[in-house]
Amino acid sequence: MKVVFISFIFFVFISKLHATEDERLKETLAGLENAQTRLAYLQDNENIYLDQDLSIKAEYWLSLGLALEENSKLDEAFNVYSHAVTVLESAINTHRELYIKALIERSYITYLQTYDTKQYCPDRALAYNTLDETVSIEMQVRANVQYAFCFQNDKANFSTGLSLLDQALKFAKQHKLSPNTHAMIYNASGLIYGRNQLYAKAYEYLLNAYRQWSLVNDYQDMFNMLHTLTHNAIYMREFDKAKQHVDEMFLLADQQNTFEDFLFFAHYNSGFLALAKGDIKESVNAYEMALSEQKNTQERYFVKSAYEVNISNYFRLGEITKAGDLLSQLKTKFPEHQIKSNLVNAFAAYQQGDYLTAIKKMYQQVDHEQNERRLFIKHAVQSTSLLNSQNITELDKKLLEKTIEIQNLNIEKAQSDKHAIYLFLVFALILFLAVSVFSFYLYKTRQYFKHHARIDYLTGVFNRRFLFEEGERALKEVRLKKIEVSILLFDIDNFKKINDSKGHYAGDLAIKLVVEKCQENLPKNAFMGRLGGDEFLVVLKHVNQATAYDIAEQIRADIQEAYLAEISPIELTVSIGVVNCLGQNSLDEAIAQADNLLYQAKAEGRNIVVSE
Ligand code: GH3
Ligand code: MG
Repeated sequence: MKVVFISFIFFVFISKLHATEDERLKETLAGLENAQTRLAYLQDNENIYLDQDLSIKAEYWLSLGLALEENSKLDEAFNVYSHAVTVLESAINTHRELYIKALIERSYITYLQTYDTKQYCPDRALAYNTLDETVSIEMQVRANVQYAFCFQNDKANFSTGLSLLDQALKFAKQHKLSPNTHAMIYNASGLIYGRNQLYAKAYEYLLNAYRQWSLVNDYQDMFNMLHTLTHNAIYMREFDKAKQHVDEMFLLADQQNTFEDFLFFAHYNSGFLALAKGDIKESVNAYEMALSEQKNTQERYFVKSAYEVNISNYFRLGEITKAGDLLSQLKTKFPEHQIKSNLVNAFAAYQQGDYLTAIKKMYQQVDHEQNERRLFIKHAVQSTSLLNSQNITELDKKLLEKTIEIQNLNIEKAQSDKHAIYLFLVFALILFLAVSVFSFYLYKTRQYFKHHARIDYLTGVFNRRFLFEEGERALKEVRLKKIEVSILLFDIDNFKKINDSKGHYAGDLAIKLVVEKCQENLPKNAFMGRLGGDEFLVVLKHVNQATAYDIAEQIRADIQEAYLAEISPIELTVSIGVVNCLGQNSLDEAIAQADNLLYQAKAEGRNIVVSE
């Protein structure tokens, strides 16, 4: 247990130590003033870092490589990176990111030393092909971009380079990587377009890169962009733009004097512009100024190039001595340098009196330029058509996207139409239901009012008004169709007594009971109503006097027999007058006649039926 605990503490201590060393290295370097002090620190403290595990050692080598590079010790930087590559190669699965970084850094040194894709691209291809998903997005973008540069001179495959950059830009945008990263991608795109004579497109990208770098005040890269922009503007024959960029280079060189080689490059570009404009004298002067600054730059390619251009410039101007001086300076400073320029080689032959070779070299140059021009035209056509086909593919893609958008809109429209129809249907249904409910309500209300306009509220039989209407109708039938109609008029006997002794409620119940017993005895076509108080009228259609009397008698008897707890033991009886309407002119007359008979019944002691 104790052993496990101690091992754990030891492990924590070791990992803490690693983290600390790693961070300490970065912190210390960031705290140091300049490239020289950084290099000195790294060289003096080698032992601390090389005693650690591989990650820290690798970080140390990468920092050392960078410090050497910053101190213009490119060969040494190359060796340090090479060492890192060799060691990390055998631990690739655990240190993939560092391995790729070392490869990219080494290729950058080779690039600075040779500007030759054949030299610096194998490392970049390897870095790109070693990528996998464990590698950080930043490193993936960097490897893509660095590898894309390898296609800049490959006219047949330059679109491969552009698609690598497309991928990088996609990553950069997706992961919101820094302006630096965006600038790096724009720069590479600009370079590839430029190398394929698509200068306008290139210029656009380079300007983008310049702006991105301006955002973060990256003067070194801003300056590099001005250099490329100047060249690009010259290729476009836009000398004003080129002049503007050269002026900006001089301005930066003046403002940012910690960057020692800015002035060399400002003069260099000024010379290049003058040459393009055909002003050889001005070009000579500018290149001389550049050469006077050569000690401040490590970029041997451009130094050699400045020598070569000025040798041919002097040769062109007939200033043979000066051309000769420069040639010997070039040979002394760069003994390993192989002169490829036909004009310089022509001058060298001329200087040695070998005029035939000199002329041959001049002709070679003429042929070369003619060839270049033809190639340019051929490639320009190819590149333009490639660009066009890329544009067309892009347009096709956009067209497809638009078509899909339109389809989606149509689907959305169809859906919203469907939705609208659905809403309309729902609305119509609600309206229909509302109207139905309202109509039903109206109907019911009407029914209610109609019912209440006709019916006596207490007993549920016809009220006085409706009874007279219906009664008159029946009397008309008597006259028109000659049918027999009889009426019974009856009144509850001594009803006041019931009310008085048993209460009004009992009185109501007695009225209802009387109606009930009466209705039980009514034939099919008969109807009855309440004339008022305790008085009722029955109209018997198709019933003659005798049958009417019988019915009345039955009613009277039934009521007498009826029992109601609330009113018993008081008797409940009715007196009834029976009249046949045949001889009557109106219902009023018939009722008046019946009323007489009823009066008679009352007078005769009540609870009896009196007929005409
Ligand atoms: P008669 O035998 O002569 O008909 O004597 P009566 O007491 O029935 O006298 P009459 O028919 O004139 O009296 C009718 C009474 O009925 C008068 C009134 O107080 C009572 N009445 C009228 N309408 C109602 C009613 O809706 N409910 C109750 N409980 N009483 C009513
Ligand atoms: Mg009465």
